[in-house]
Amino acid sequence: MITPPHEVVIIGSGPAGLTAALYCARADLHPIVLEGSMPGGQLITTTEVENFPGFVDGISGSDLVETIKSQAKKFGTEFKYATVSEIIFQDGHFKLYIDNDNENAIYTKSVIIATGARPRKLGLVSEEKYWSKGVTSCATCDGFFYRGREVCVVGGGDSAMEEALFLTRFCPKVFIIHRRDKLRASVVMAERARKNEKIEFVWNKKITEILGDDSLKGLQVTGVKLEDTNTGKTSTLDIGGVFLGIGHIPNTEIVKELVATDEHGYVITHPNSTSTDQEGMFVCGDAQDSVYRQAITAAGTGCMAALEAERYLESL
Ligand code: NAP
Repeated sequence: MITPPHEVVIIGSGPAGLTAALYCARADLHPIVLEGSMPGGQLITTTEVENFPGFVDGISGSDLVETIKSQAKKFGTEFKYATVSEIIFQDGHFKLYIDNDNENAIYTKSVIIATGARPRKLGLVSEEKYWSKGVTSCATCDGFFYRGREVCVVGGGDSAMEEALFLTRFCPKVFIIHRRDKLRASVVMAERARKNEKIEFVWNKKITEILGDDSLKGLQVTGVKLEDTNTGKTSTLDIGGVFLGIGHIPNTEIVKELVATDEHGYVITHPNSTSTDQEGMFVCGDAQDSVYRQAITAAGTGCMAALEAERYLESL
């Protein structure tokens, strides 16, 4: 052992990780939060959060993150800009390698995984070709650049509705392309999208290719090739941008050797618990939740993970 181990290290800094940090800090465990490549997690890409209890008028995703972070810092949480590349459990301790550097490790008696999830992609070659040149997954981050363009959003869930609604601020027309004729989105979000005159639904269609003009500077996308999911009939839609809102993939690659995951990669935790088969490892937020995936449920499981880590440390 090179350095004495910390009590608890939290990997990830979305609502799950930050809430875990707040509880661990108040329990005097001096937690360290390794913030990852996207500090604040997915909330940073959300405009207005209207359903996090306590904020009558809503709060922006980044303000919510900053608020919980300040609260966790107030009780002594230490934050580090670092990404964990490998986790090894040896002699009762975790060794966390940072930023692919084998010389750079942090030792800890317990670890809380709050690594969240990342946006899913369509898996098309043309999607990669035009990524950031007209294809993106974050309206909040990139919407402004599409001012005046007709664009499409792919998906039928809340993310797609939210992206489409946000884009109507900049774009004269927003098509929502969905592979079925029924939305997965909540009633409130679906109604908002349906009532917006700038939004048009394109039902039962999937994108088979993203079309572009390589001679253009900046945004190069000019349209999409569509296939009807019922008839197989193909068509083309002229648009100047593609926003993906088709769900997420859990960021659990670093723990796959240590804990069990389901077929989609979500960590399997013990029932009513954030504990795993790996002693001292607790998993919270979207890394283990394929069902609710809300900021408030992530925060709730972050709280659970902290309480369980505290009990585990006491038992050592
Ligand atoms: P989601 O609910 O899983 O919806 C994903 C959508 O993308 C589905 O409509 C799905 O189609 C479609 N899809 C998936 N893979 C596809 C593919 N390869 N090609 C074409 N379409 C594809 O994911 P989400 O919208 O990101 O929402 C996740 C969770 O976050 C939900 O619980 C949601 O309520 C929550 N959320 C809430 C808000 C809010 O309240 N403001 C905002 C964003 C997210 P099918 O329907 O056919 O499966």
